[in-house]
Amino acid sequence: MGAFFNEELSFPPVHANFASSQEQLIRFSKNVHDNVHGNIYLDPLALKFIDTEQFQRLRDLKQLGVTHLVYPGAVHSRFEHSLGVYWLAGAAIQKLKQNQGLELGIDNFDIQTVKLAGLLHDVGHGPFSHLFEREFLPRVVSGCKWSHEQMSLKMVDHIVDEHHIDLDFEMIKKVKVS
Ligand SMILES: [Zn+2]
Repeated sequence: MGAFFNEELSFPPVHANFASSQEQLIRFSKNVHDNVHGNIYLDPLALKFIDTEQFQRLRDLKQLGVTHLVYPGAVHSRFEHSLGVYWLAGAAIQKLKQNQGLELGIDNFDIQTVKLAGLLHDVGHGPFSHLFEREFLPRVVSGCKWSHEQMSLKMVDHIVDEHHIDLDFEMIKKVKVS
């Protein structure tokens, strides 16, 4: 499968004796507590995407559009949904690696790619989630072909460019087709 991906390459440059790679991993990663999945470890590369205004915007998008107007508890956001999908995608590929890793040639590059694809799959959503593209846009722009999937692809490129994220071109390509 993909070329070997070294997570350490995604760290900002540090002084040679600043810290061991293990200390760097701890320094540039985070843990958050999710209501559904419990503790979620956010790796350094994922954090480079999460700590952008484009991804943080998902905190203000409700996962279920305007459903909360009828079901007041339905207020979870695309942000927590995306972290959950990132976690589940990581768990799924790790399980696959554990059971068929050698056979399928699953390496760290593949694991990181699948996790990023999960994290970023909804990054192009508009306000009120699906309501925006299925109900709102067609009524105000005739023949509108806008979709959150297409916008997610553009947004991934935009984030990488604007925030100068040093990422293997092959990985970006695979994240976008996932
Ligand atoms: Zn989703």
